[in-house]
Amino acid sequence: MAVWRQDGPYIWVTWLTKLLVGENSCEWSAWFKACHEGWSWKKQPSTFDTVSWQMDHSSQVALSRKAWEKQGYVIFTEDQNSFVLRGRSAKLAGKPDLIVKKGNDAIVVDVKTGRPLPSHSVQVMLYMYAIPRSLGQHKGVEFSGRVVYQDHEIEIPASAVDGEFVSNVSELILRLASENPARRVPSARECRYCNVTLQDCPERVEDDTTGEGVTSDF
Ligand code: SF4
Repeated sequence: MAVWRQDGPYIWVTWLTKLLVGENSCEWSAWFKACHEGWSWKKQPSTFDTVSWQMDHSSQVALSRKAWEKQGYVIFTEDQNSFVLRGRSAKLAGKPDLIVKKGNDAIVVDVKTGRPLPSHSVQVMLYMYAIPRSLGQHKGVEFSGRVVYQDHEIEIPASAVDGEFVSNVSELILRLASENPARRVPSARECRYCNVTLQDCPERVEDDTTGEGVTSDF
């Protein structure tokens, strides 16, 4: 049985991004993970090819890193970029691929291998907000952001992290850190990629791969 987190809710940036832009709707999944100890609940096995994704991603990050180095930027990478931002209701954690700095220019960079999605930019905006508030060596620095795809990049100005953005993020975090469960929205599309099992989420929609559910002639 899932056990409540002793140190209070703990939220990964990546659990927020799709909810913030409406790519996902089931807040219950993030609420459950935020409020329960990770070791205490069973995970749905991943259908995603993690190894090839990781190799692809690492080689893209290495290419991006080289390009920034060539331009004379100082690079921070891997665990240098791990942060935990402590708020009143929850902790927010994350790790961007690269932080690059040259003079007054400070940029959070995240590399993506799949098709572009709005949640990728929101992920970088969350890093831009959290890093100057949680990592000592970047304290108070104003960051812009960059999402790097194989064939193009998206630049995010520092001004994108405005009051409205912070208020939307805070409201979502409050819902996910609440003792009252967040909204559950079961759907085949979302449940398919969710690692919460039927044991904890009885409303989980299982994939119908048999074709038995087909009732139309067209
Ligand atoms: S299995 Fe489906 S309904 Fe249950 S938490 Fe995950 S996405 Fe939500």
